[in-house]
Amino acid sequence: MKITRIKTEVTQLVLKKPLVVTFGSIEAMETIIVKIETDEGLCGYGEASPFGPVTGETKESVLSNIRDFEKVLIGENPLEIERIHRKMNGCIAFNPSAKAGIDIALYDIYSKSLNVPLYIALGGKNQEVESDKTISIGTIENMIEDVQLAMKAGFTKVKLKAGIDVFHDVKAMKAIRESCGDELTIRMDANQGWNFAQAIWAINEMEKYRLDALEQPVAYWDVDGLRKIRNKVNVPLMADESLHDEKDAMKLLKSDAVDVLNIKLMKSKGIHGAMKINHLAESSGVECMIGCMLESPVAISAGVHFAMANKNVTRVDLDSLFAIKKCPGIEGGVEFKGGRASLPDKVGLGLDVGF
Ligand SMILES: [Mg+2]
Repeated sequence: MKITRIKTEVTQLVLKKPLVVTFGSIEAMETIIVKIETDEGLCGYGEASPFGPVTGETKESVLSNIRDFEKVLIGENPLEIERIHRKMNGCIAFNPSAKAGIDIALYDIYSKSLNVPLYIALGGKNQEVESDKTISIGTIENMIEDVQLAMKAGFTKVKLKAGIDVFHDVKAMKAIRESCGDELTIRMDANQGWNFAQAIWAINEMEKYRLDALEQPVAYWDVDGLRKIRNKVNVPLMADESLHDEKDAMKLLKSDAVDVLNIKLMKSKGIHGAMKINHLAESSGVECMIGCMLESPVAISAGVHFAMANKNVTRVDLDSLFAIKKCPGIEGGVEFKGGRASLPDKVGLGLDVGF
């Protein structure tokens, strides 16, 4: 089998309401759907969803890089995924979401060539995967209301965004635990917004409200800071922006800096890199979360397949589809009831994409 063509299509992801995080307020984002065609009629779909503040990429850079990748990948066997990653890395360094777009499409082709759903091709089985729902930073009253609406819709896990005002963050945690009950799993993501002293104070304050995990309290480059915080708190500490690829994972694991690694396909260059990170973490006794950027059903379905194939992925934060309006032209893939994900009994990613 040989790659004959790589096509891209820009798709607008429109949010149901603006998402407020430490980077600012987001109302809509563009994502790039990738199609890889082969000489045997099989094709695969992938997605590159660049997020500048984290991956340093833009829509324009992704489109340009994928055009360059196409030049070196035409004629290659799409099943030789390791070789294709080496070719992409040899062509352009970094740029992980552009590479994820290609990688996810390759895994779609790989599992279609085996005539099985992707989670089976990855060695997994159809098992329960439950995502949390992200709660935007807002007034305490609005945040409680958003959590209560999520619980009514069937969610049992939420992730509170934080990091603008540490005192507000602790107040929100306390108020939500007290008004929403003990059964709810509450995670918090500070998105690098705290300093070292604030992080230790806030996490220790929130321990008594049963915080499931605290994500990325300090700047992405401060691995030593993460390690020092971890030594002073009892809540599992998670790295997100500090973790892109398996080399970052190795650094975090060697430093004993965190308890959980938040893998995102757009940071890890797709599923190939995500598996490397998860294997390293599992061998070090560290669990993983699978997270996402603002992604369409293409990349979110890929994340669910990955979660179903990896027991060490104990937390799932694949909540982009709850926040966006329906993407025209993309049918099938993952479906959610509350946070519980299910995949169709179809080959590959299980999607019908109209281009
Ligand atoms: Mg995060």
